[in-house]
Amino acid sequence: MGAGPTGSLAALLLAHQNRCVVLYDPQSPETLQARSRAYAITHSSRRLLSQLGLWDALQDHLIAFERLDLRDLTLGHQVLFLNDDLALRNRGHRAIGWILDHRPLMDMLFGRLQQAALVQLHLGGSTPPAPGQNSLVVAADGPLSPTRESWGIRCWFNRYHQGCLTAKVVLRGAKSNQACELFRPEGPLAILPLGKNNFQIVWSAPMHRCQERSALPSSTFLDQLASVLPPGMEPDLLLDQPKAFTQQWMLAHRLSHGRGVLIGEAGHRCHPVGGQGLNLCWRDVDVLMRVVKQGGPAAHVAARYGRKRWIDLILVGLATDLLVRVFSNRNWFLMVFRNVLLKLLRNNAGLRQLSLKAMTDGPMQIWRALPD
Ligand SMILES: Cc1cc2nc3c(=O)[nH]c(=O)nc-3n(C[C@H](O)[C@H](O)[C@H](O)COP(=O)(O)OP(=O)(O)OC[C@H]3O[C@@H](n4cnc5c(N)ncnc54)[C@H](O)[C@@H]3O)c2cc1C
Repeated sequence: MGAGPTGSLAALLLAHQNRCVVLYDPQSPETLQARSRAYAITHSSRRLLSQLGLWDALQDHLIAFERLDLRDLTLGHQVLFLNDDLALRNRGHRAIGWILDHRPLMDMLFGRLQQAALVQLHLGGSTPPAPGQNSLVVAADGPLSPTRESWGIRCWFNRYHQGCLTAKVVLRGAKSNQACELFRPEGPLAILPLGKNNFQIVWSAPMHRCQERSALPSSTFLDQLASVLPPGMEPDLLLDQPKAFTQQWMLAHRLSHGRGVLIGEAGHRCHPVGGQGLNLCWRDVDVLMRVVKQGGPAAHVAARYGRKRWIDLILVGLATDLLVRVFSNRNWFLMVFRNVLLKLLRNNAGLRQLSLKAMTDGPMQIWRALPD
């Protein structure tokens, strides 16, 4: 249920394991492909996509960034993460992460789904057959998940006062091989390279301000953006219509129900700081594939999946929530804490390596960085 990036990838990987898959989404393929968004892709996602040869198929669309520039604009501190700060097994790829636009990703996934003999596609309203008695039901139907509702699963929920605004812009003075996360009192601002001088902006601020900014004429919008960018960066051109989104942390009380599982944003959401969202959804897919491979009745598979995902989801939810709370305010105690933390990060390669490991492979993998 759901052919967004999570449901589509899960369908492909299940078919790869010789399972018959029926993939349903009420939206047409054109609508599903049309989202104007770019994803930050981490090494955990790279490994998953590589299993199916999808990584190589995306090469022309992946924009690698070799540097991650983290700045606290209130305190004036800067920490630069470089390829050398990656754990050894990731270092060979010469990128801290990649930026991937939604459209080429979905084009590639739908192309592969159409070729997969074991996948039946029901997109754009054609009614799917009812699932068989022993089938696993995979709900990847997004944050409002009608399937989760119908299973009676409730959620823990925290709506942030901050919303976020996304826009694609041409920037002068920004490095095309570098991603930036700027912490400002009104919220984090991410600048993600899209190739040449094009960048995706993910600008967090109080929701009413995001909405106001999304409705500004493009010249006024660019002026406002210029006023918050670091010295030396100048926005030249707006490439799409800015869009404002609400932000929330959400976690379903259960991730399985009988022979059904919740994956992707049907089961959880987190703040976009650090670009964790889709990578976390795809780690659900990774774990689901492992438990399906172990075999057994669908209800056992579902229960095993549900148990295995908790720690990663809670840790990433906590980490992103803490980042936003600690870095988006002027409380003097937290400013002292940030001051110490950023100085430690700047001066200690081991600490930079641990934080990158948590960000790129998931917090549960931190221990693997230690022997390196
Ligand atoms: C502003 C913003 C910026 C973001 N930036 C990043 C980033 O930089 N990096 C990153 O990794 N992530 C990012 N994310 C998060 C990322 O977009 C999501 O994690 C991702 O879209 C989740 O994919 P999904 O397939 O789980 O859900 P969705 O993409 O929401 O897909 C759900 C699908 O389910 C379908 N559906 C709805 N109802 C039904 C039904 N009854 N039956 C069947 N199907 C149904 C919908 O049509 C939809 O196609 C961002 C999110 C936002 C809002």
